[in-house]
Amino acid sequence: MKPHILYILNHATWSVGNGKQISFWSDKWLDHSIADHWNIPSHLLPDMELAVEHFIVNGRWCLPPYIHQKDPELAAKISKITLHKDDIPDTLPWNLSPDGCLTQKIAFSCLFGNGQQVNWAKFLWNSFIPPTRSFITWRILFDKLPTDDNLRKRGCCIVSICCFCRRHAETSSHIFFECAVTAILRSWLSKGTDIPLDLTSCNNLILNSMGRGSTLVQQILNSAIIHTIWAIWIERNQRCFHNKHQSMATLFNCILAEVKLGYKLILAKGNFDMQDYKISRLFNIPFKTKRATAKHDVHWCPPPTDVIKFNYDGSSIGAHPCGAIGIVIRRSSSSFLGAISSNIGNATTLEAEFSACMLAIEKAREMHFKAICLESDSIRVVHAYNKNVGVPWKMKARWYNCMKFCHNIICSCHHEL
Ligand SMILES: [Zn+2]
Repeated sequence: MKPHILYILNHATWSVGNGKQISFWSDKWLDHSIADHWNIPSHLLPDMELAVEHFIVNGRWCLPPYIHQKDPELAAKISKITLHKDDIPDTLPWNLSPDGCLTQKIAFSCLFGNGQQVNWAKFLWNSFIPPTRSFITWRILFDKLPTDDNLRKRGCCIVSICCFCRRHAETSSHIFFECAVTAILRSWLSKGTDIPLDLTSCNNLILNSMGRGSTLVQQILNSAIIHTIWAIWIERNQRCFHNKHQSMATLFNCILAEVKLGYKLILAKGNFDMQDYKISRLFNIPFKTKRATAKHDVHWCPPPTDVIKFNYDGSSIGAHPCGAIGIVIRRSSSSFLGAISSNIGNATTLEAEFSACMLAIEKAREMHFKAICLESDSIRVVHAYNKNVGVPWKMKARWYNCMKFCHNIICSCHHEL
């Protein structure tokens, strides 16, 4: 951790609780520390040691007038920070995760990156093809199979001949893509699946077969290619080392069986499309199709008598997301009490959903309601309400205050599509 402490501090921002642990001037509890924002020389900071708690009186911000005069924008920003109503310790959340928790996974990806990205990775490594099969294709891509030509490169002095046609020297390119005997399997792969394939090399075969047809076609084709390559390699080893021969027809049936077996793990369902139907028939796979989504009417349901219902929603759009929220308030008799719509500026969809819920609760407090029902389409807000997890770290203090109010009244939070 020690060598990375600067990186950690740059990506963590203090969340104000009781303000006892946070240095008002030198700690980062806004976008930048105030010392950096005002360019205060570092040698002056030891004499300016004041905690954030010294600027909070009776649960409210109390900033000295000179801050308002020197930097009204900063003063406004500080005043907008919601303070906890109870004595809650300060926390140091991780900026780059929505709930502020620094997990081992996040730490690993920050320190070591996400690794090399290659476009064929999803083609090779997936849940419906055993890794032992994919591994052979992966070795061909890097020309690392122990074929005769590769053994010669390593200094083995051997006579080389293709065990299938017995006419050419053995190279991985020959046995998989040039040999006249294994060509039967390759042509079946192309003609049987009714998809023209580039059979000149492993790299071209994989890259040109990606994105062909529907997800179902793509996954079955993907499985068929990898199982064909695997079947040729296993047959080559049987012929070379055990003197056992299987016909191409037997190999063909093995490939069909392997693809059909793997299909049970394929989650994709077919479209009402001829290509999907044909490929399902070829591999003798039951043709599952997507069901048309049934229309779902949503009606407003009245809450119990004397309970006020808040229907709220939040959303955001754009590359620099701009959020907006809406709330409708009704009595159990369905009589309309009011509605709120507001632009909340920069916010993710999740933050907009939480903002809408919190504004509804704050409005209930302002209107002195004693029994409320909160309803929205956000499962995560309902989950946070019930288990207090997944709250965006910037909103934790405001959420805490809202939950405190909810626990003192009759309140329920529901999810409705
Ligand atoms: Zn050959």
